[in-house]
Amino acid sequence: MSAVESNDLSGETRDFLTTPHKLFIDGQWTDPVGGGTIDVFDPATESKIATVACADGDDIDRAVSAARAAFSGEWSKINSHDRTELIWRLADELERHLPFVAELEVLDNGMPRSMAQLAISSFGCRFLRYYAGWATKIHGDTIPVSPQGAPNGASLSYTRREPVGVVGAITPWNVPLTMAISKLGPALAAGCTIVLKPSEETPLTALVLAEMSRKVGFPDGVINILPGYGATAGAALAEHDDVNKIAFTGSTGVGKKILQAASGNLKKVTLELGGKSPVIVFPDADLERVIPGAARAAFFLNGQNCMAGTRLFVHEDVYEQVIDGVAEMAGSFRLGSGLLPDTDLGPLISAAQRDRVLAYIESGKATDAELVCGGEAVEGKGYFVRPTVFGHTSMEMKIAREEIFGPVLCVQAFGDTDTDSGLDALVAEANKSIYGLSASVWTRDISLAHRMAARIDSGQVSINCHAAVDPAIPFGGNKQSGWGREFGKEGLEPYLKTKATTVMF
Ligand code: NAD
Repeated sequence: MSAVESNDLSGETRDFLTTPHKLFIDGQWTDPVGGGTIDVFDPATESKIATVACADGDDIDRAVSAARAAFSGEWSKINSHDRTELIWRLADELERHLPFVAELEVLDNGMPRSMAQLAISSFGCRFLRYYAGWATKIHGDTIPVSPQGAPNGASLSYTRREPVGVVGAITPWNVPLTMAISKLGPALAAGCTIVLKPSEETPLTALVLAEMSRKVGFPDGVINILPGYGATAGAALAEHDDVNKIAFTGSTGVGKKILQAASGNLKKVTLELGGKSPVIVFPDADLERVIPGAARAAFFLNGQNCMAGTRLFVHEDVYEQVIDGVAEMAGSFRLGSGLLPDTDLGPLISAAQRDRVLAYIESGKATDAELVCGGEAVEGKGYFVRPTVFGHTSMEMKIAREEIFGPVLCVQAFGDTDTDSGLDALVAEANKSIYGLSASVWTRDISLAHRMAARIDSGQVSINCHAAVDPAIPFGGNKQSGWGREFGKEGLEPYLKTKATTVMF
């Protein structure tokens, strides 16, 4: 893979990388109590690119105290219009620095630059603005009641929607800045304060966001951002008695640990977890759309995407055409540093992730599945794995059952769809997963598409596209893909609590 020289980077990026980075607590850049650091690596070159401070439990304590003080103090006095203004200004500031932030995201995570720019502008900035708008639209109801049999008009009952309080946010490495923003937007709109722990693999852009939040005028303590390891800083945040809610995105295994840790003070929890999403192609589908759509569904972000369409179910009449087309596209993707203009797929995040993905590929090779393309790492520096397609898989195989979080697609044929029992069998196979995050159905038969959408057990279903995402579309998983929903109006709810007040005249 061709490397990128450091002097190809912008001055802003070089300055950021050579500056030591502390923890952002109570509006100040602060040294960690234990003096720990995290080395940050470019997964495309395996080179160390930065060192940041590493929080432990004591630092989490300080940040939670700051967030509590801000929640009860200055932040509680700021009205909803001013909250809108501040969140909007953060979006503007992010947009102003888009090339720099995107470059940093590419270096830290490995994704192609175009993807980083799109994620930040089309999703991150819009997401902040979407939730900025919600801040002024949060209100309760008045309710016609007759407590204790009181006559009409003798009482008044109303609800207030109040912020839940201090939010602990814990995020993964696959789209680092977007994940941080997906927690900040609704938390701030609701009037909460927040302590955010980004992934130890990709802490850089969250730190940029911290500095931007200070610049645009958020009061001290409203936003606290502390890189740290999951087992220490993450666990301390999840079990903290003064945190009111945890917003977690990450693996299902860690999600279960978060639930246990949160039980001490029964804090509210939302979980955005893993997936193994089905993509279902009926024989009448427009294959000109299906083939690139299915290839992107599986290999977008190298499969390091919770919604990745990694189980492709294709009707037997078009199976060969689809699998050949997807494999051809997979083979044509250019792997390289995300900083290079023609890169389609970057590296995996780390050596550990590459080795994990390769172990799954080896397990697939040991089955009756047909290895159609890929199946190996790329020689040389960087954690690159070739997009891999296995044909004739079945849900009994580990590669088809477990979330790999890498570029591995399992393809399975189905037959009869003209009878109820045929469709039942297909639906059962698509739903045969512990996950239920996303799915897509590809057909020209709109009635069939909606019937399938209703029967698939997942938080979202896309028709003739995969993983349609917008700040206004509720997002989240069924089964072991999570608890609760983010995005849209529903995404605001977990950051609010209801208080009912009743007066007797
Ligand atoms: P991970 O679960 O290993 O880590 C996620 C975060 O949790 C990190 O910040 C980590 O430091 C922290 N953490 C780890 N152990 C912890 C503990 N004991 N207590 C508290 N925090 C802890 O996940 P990852 O490898 O960073 O990301 C990949 C996973 O995330 C995949 O399973 C993917 O499907 C999932 N994901 C889900 C969504 C979604 O919206 N549903 C989005 C992106 C990624």
